[in-house]
This record gives sequence, structure tokens and C-alpha cells, in this order.
Amino acid sequence: MLEILSITPGSPASATGFRNIDKLISCNGSPLNDWIDFLYSASGFFIDLVFTRGTVIRRLTIRRNPSTDWGFVFQDQQPALCRNKCIFCFVDQLPHGVRPSLRVKDDDIRYSFIQGTYVTLDTDDTEYAICKHLTPLHISVHTTDPSIRGIILGTRRDEPVLHMLEKLSEAGIEMETQLVVVPGLNDEEELDKTLDDLLTIPGVISVGVVPVGLTKYRDGLHEIRRSSGEEARRVVNQCNLWRRKAVINRGYTWVYPSDEFFIMAGLDIPPASYYETCTLRENGIGLLAELMETSGKEFTGNGIVCTGSLAAPFLRRILNGSDYHVIAVENTFLGPDIGAAGLLSGEDIVRSVKKLPDSYNTVILPGVMFNHDNLTLDDFTPDRISQLTGREVFVIRDLEELA
Ligand code: SF4
Repeated sequence: MLEILSITPGSPASATGFRNIDKLISCNGSPLNDWIDFLYSASGFFIDLVFTRGTVIRRLTIRRNPSTDWGFVFQDQQPALCRNKCIFCFVDQLPHGVRPSLRVKDDDIRYSFIQGTYVTLDTDDTEYAICKHLTPLHISVHTTDPSIRGIILGTRRDEPVLHMLEKLSEAGIEMETQLVVVPGLNDEEELDKTLDDLLTIPGVISVGVVPVGLTKYRDGLHEIRRSSGEEARRVVNQCNLWRRKAVINRGYTWVYPSDEFFIMAGLDIPPASYYETCTLRENGIGLLAELMETSGKEFTGNGIVCTGSLAAPFLRRILNGSDYHVIAVENTFLGPDIGAAGLLSGEDIVRSVKKLPDSYNTVILPGVMFNHDNLTLDDFTPDRISQLTGREVFVIRDLEELA
């Protein structure tokens, strides 16, 4: 039975007369034990719900338009909070004063499944995922060595993960995994060992290998550093070796170093074909190759294109010959090592744009800078950036919008 916390006003549930005292028993004939059950059975355009109101059992059918939410908020829908203290946790490295929602650390397999975020996995998660057949999952493995994994997760105990991955795989669950490489801990032989272990598990369908992201706010945190250029080259070479083994073993390349590793290593970004069917763009894997695919297009219009230091040289190449001027916005909000466009602050944008001549009266910003409420990390909206810079601001999701 599923308890309702609230009904969204104006939603199909509200229009049909549901109230928060109702308890849902089944949806389209499937029993409801938690909201994941509801999501599974309520994916269509109408649902047939059996529920109790007081002592009476009732039945109602609701209809909705495509992409409209049903309007139920359930009692146990809050994400489970994270019990780790990962040595590279980004939340621990944020400045004071950021909005509270950015400080929430969750590690919830249900949200991982729905939103594609990474989860560290424990025995309960494993049982739950098998019971609900949640597939695919996104799992932060980092290393298959239990003691090193314990250090990385900051739990001060062994954190074995292999047996859980094997169990999920046996249950037919597919897993996209990630390894955050911490130099001196899970790189070199440890990285080889981890990739060797993971390749034996059929359900592990991909491995994303990413560097640690370190902001300037690390006082009192575990001392770690980013990979040097040489270390980054070794990571890419190791991945390339395992890609060749995976082609023999699985028929596809399977392991993908992030774009940042190629840049740190001073290597060219590989062509889009390097990423085959890889779907890890949100983790910074294959994004630049995808961007470079737009090379050769004709870009009309003009303006200041703001981006992070990582993408700026590539954007300059693509927009070369057009009237767009690309600036690499220095990230003073989080620190100079943070080069991703998605982690730029409004304050840094405003400062960088104000240094440019007034003749550039249009500012183009990457959509990844803004959350669902259209806010940057430091709570700037595009309108506020426009007011403070005195320029017209456009937010784009895709470079093709400039063509
Ligand atoms: S799992 Fe690690 S990185 Fe993720 S929120 Fe928890 S402590 Fe931070």
C-alpha cells in the first residue's frame, strides 16, 4: 500500500478527486509497495487505481496528456542520504553559502535508476535492484580492491563490490560503471586489476574512467591531487589496451576515458567513432568529440560565446572564421582546476563579459550552467546576468543553434 504525501494542484490526480488521505493499493492490476512500483505501472496515458479512503475500497481511472506528471507525491519519496565520505566528494568542496539543495548528499538506488546518477551500492541496494529488476544501473565502482575502495569512499572499512556486481549481473541487470581515478590509490596496476575484474562480469556494459575534480575548498579534507600529464597519458593508454581486449571479449570497446584525461595528457580528442554506442556524455565522456562533429558548419550571427577552459580551445576551432568570439571563463568561484562549462558561476561570467568591448552586445551561455530552475551554482538567472552585463543573453543547449 502506497501512502500519499500530497497531491499537486491542477494535476490529473487532483482533477480526478484524489486526496492525500487515500492509500493506493494497485495500479493497472499491479500491487503497489513503493513509488518505484507506481512509476513502473504508470508509464502510459491512463491508469486504473484501486485505493482505500478510510475503510472504503474505491477504484478510479485517471488520464493524462503525454509528459504530464500524474501529480502524486508519495510518503517515502525523499532520497536516502549518503553514508559515505568520499575523499573527492564534490559536495564537501563547495563554498559556504551555496544554496542548501546543492549540499544534499544522496546515494539512493531508486533515484540512480530514475535519473541515471551514480550510486555506490550496498547489500540492501543489490537485493532491492534484483527484486524490482532495475536495469540499467549506474554504479560508482572506483576499484574492486575492498580496502582501497574503503579509503576512497571514506568509510574506514573494507568496501567489497565485486560480489554485488556479479549478483546483479546474474539477475540480468545491466550496469554502467564509473571509476574516479585518484593518483596513487586506484591508478596504475590497480586500474588494470579493476578493469580485468569488471571485464569478467557480463552485466557490466561500460566503464567510464574520469579524473578527480578538485575545487579550491579542500581545507581539512583528505590530501589528494589530480593526475599529472604523464599519469593521464598512462590512464588513456591503459584504457586503450583494455578496449582492445574488450573488442575480443565482447565485440565492442567497453571502456571510455573522459575527455578531460585526453586534455590533461596533451592528446588529441579522438573522433566520435571512438565512443561507439557510449552514452556517458553527462559524465564528460565523448562530449568534445561530439562537439567537433559540428566543425565545418557555417555559423551566422555574432556574440560572445562563454564556456569553461576545457571546451574553449575546441569551440574556437569550430567557430573560427565566424563572428563569434569565444572566451574561456576563469572559474574563480570553485578554483582554476575546474574547467567544465556546467560548473561556471554567474559571478564569473559577469566579470569576464564586462572586460570585453561594448561592441559585443550579445552573450551566449551554455545551457548546462543552469539547473531546472534556471539558476547557476551561485543563483544567477540569465536575466540577472543580462542586467549586470548590460548585454542581451541567450542560453543554448546545442552549438547547432548558432548555425
Ligand atoms: S557517494 Fe561519495 S561522492 Fe557521492 S555524495 Fe556520497 S560522499 Fe559524495
